[in-house]
Amino acid sequence: MSTCIFCRIVEGTIPARLVYQDEHTLAFDDITPQAPVHTLVIPKRHVAAVQDLGEADQALLGRLLLTCRKGATDKGLAESGYRIVANTGRDGGQSVFHLHFHVLGGRHLGWPPG
Ligand code: AMP
Repeated sequence: MSTCIFCRIVEGTIPARLVYQDEHTLAFDDITPQAPVHTLVIPKRHVAAVQDLGEADQALLGRLLLTCRKGATDKGLAESGYRIVANTGRDGGQSVFHLHFHVLGGRHLGWPPG
């Protein structure tokens, strides 16, 4: 069994509220939502962070963004808008080291972030 919490969600050994999945990506609701809609989009394959991606991951990156779009659309955010965030590394505030995009919406989101 994997020690990575998001790999365990992919394996199905930790429950999650699934929003969408395809062959390579998975979208599920964040357990501590920071907005009315807060979905996480991850690759099924373990990649720790954006910084660990390379040239060979172009197709996966495109697929991840399309899954963000799909999740946001399914959650009714197509018109109102939303924010996609990938916290990366220590200063980026990353706490789970399995690459993920936050998809946030359903309220106005302030800028700049803290
Ligand atoms: P980050 O701080 O950018 O690495 O984001 C990690 C996110 O994962 C946080 O928003 C957490 O609330 C979320 N999270 C942690 N464990 C789970 C879980 N078991 N299911 C869903 N979301 C989780």
